[in-house]
Amino acid sequence: MELKSTDQVDKMQASAEILASVFLEVRKLVAPGVTTAELDEVIEARIREAGCIPSFKGYHGFPASACISVNEEVVHGIPSSRALADGDIVGIDIGLIRDGWHADSAETIPVGRVSDEAARLIDVTCECLARGIAAIAPGRRISAIGIEVEKHARANGFSVVESLVGHGIGRNLHEDPQVPNFRCYTMPDPVMEVGLVLAIEPMINAGTKRVITARDEWTIVTADRRLSAHFEHTVAVTADGPRILTRRGDGTGAF
Ligand code: MG
Ligand code: MG
Repeated sequence: MELKSTDQVDKMQASAEILASVFLEVRKLVAPGVTTAELDEVIEARIREAGCIPSFKGYHGFPASACISVNEEVVHGIPSSRALADGDIVGIDIGLIRDGWHADSAETIPVGRVSDEAARLIDVTCECLARGIAAIAPGRRISAIGIEVEKHARANGFSVVESLVGHGIGRNLHEDPQVPNFRCYTMPDPVMEVGLVLAIEPMINAGTKRVITARDEWTIVTADRRLSAHFEHTVAVTADGPRILTRRGDGTGAF
């Protein structure tokens, strides 16, 4: 577990603020008819215009700058010529590197008018992220986060994906520790310390928690093809509690 100095956290904040601004712009483009490849193109252009590098492009061979996952797709969807349709929900996950420091964030956005279940899944998943973040404090164990996420998801009749987890972040996109979104008995459960920076990212399913990998060998899909939502923030552990680096700052969406 690599701890960051306050100066280093400030550098990560600078990366994170650019990422938040990319989200604010991309949100405005989400509408029926737009393709996921078009969204990815804008995302990559904005990242590079800001002098940053997309973290995901080429990562283990991933072919795009954003992971864009529609409806039953949980995460790691590959942008394509698929046009978004009225009633879809679209999860957009973006990472970028600035000055050697990564930021990672995701949100799920409704396309046009969505079903009540889809709207509720999006709200509850965003609340799960907020509750997980609220559990962050130096001296507490990592498991405090997942316990809160799982409690809220279950209370609303939804399930938590267990095969993918949050992570430490810094000079590398994925660092120790792993951050499960559920009460986990098999992963290390270190104590959070000041200077730890985490990507908290609950993936919440309307139906079963089970997921499968699609034939493209990237896209993770719910086993029952029901909806899934995903929200993520990069968060630093400080003496005063969590500092959300990728906060959107406009008081909406992924807060
Ligand atoms: Mg991410
Ligand atoms: Mg992540």
